[in-house]
Amino acid sequence: MDFGAIAQLVERLNGIQEVSGSTPLSSTIPLNWMDKAPGVTASEGVRLAAAFAFAARAHVDQRRKGARQEPYLNHLAEVADLAARASGGADIDLIIAALLHDAVEDTPVTPAELEAAFGPRVAALVAEVTDDKTLSESERKRAQVAHAATLSPEARILKLADKISNVRDMAHSPPSGWSVARRAAYLAWAREVVEVCRPASPVLGELFDAIAAEASRGLEA
Ligand code: ZN
Repeated sequence: MDFGAIAQLVERLNGIQEVSGSTPLSSTIPLNWMDKAPGVTASEGVRLAAAFAFAARAHVDQRRKGARQEPYLNHLAEVADLAARASGGADIDLIIAALLHDAVEDTPVTPAELEAAFGPRVAALVAEVTDDKTLSESERKRAQVAHAATLSPEARILKLADKISNVRDMAHSPPSGWSVARRAAYLAWAREVVEVCRPASPVLGELFDAIAAEASRGLEA
């Protein structure tokens, strides 16, 4: 790994961070800045660090729904960790897509921006797991189950990791105002999505089962 390049990257990011605040991402980050930095090559480590910084800024004002109000980035880091482990860490695009999986759905970031910054494969993976926001909440939930069968194996890994993280959060820090019935309905829906995605990563499937069982016991208590 080129630590000189990483140090330069961190220096540049610090400069960007100071001026970015909560202004829209697209207005503060030149998407081709990496190409212009002398000595900085888009090695895997550099791309991964850039994706972390990009995700952190894109979701800067978001918190998780749970009572603890964790930073949204915690969820993205967890999904990336799960996707990396499930795939043996070899597929860097998959890990980057995991960090950015909610960026188009939940922030002003566009697919074109993702493609310019991280390439067409990352943008395509994120597009696969992005809900159609023109649908109602219940329509989106139905669509996720139907759509799961059409996903690539990599996108199914993202779905599995996302559901593990969401169900774990729901069990440990349930959103205030969610009744037991609402939590049970969420768990049942997550199980449906996982059943379709499970063949892409039996290991993640098993981890989901363990976490879903724990969540289910919590609902009975
Ligand atoms: Zn997510």
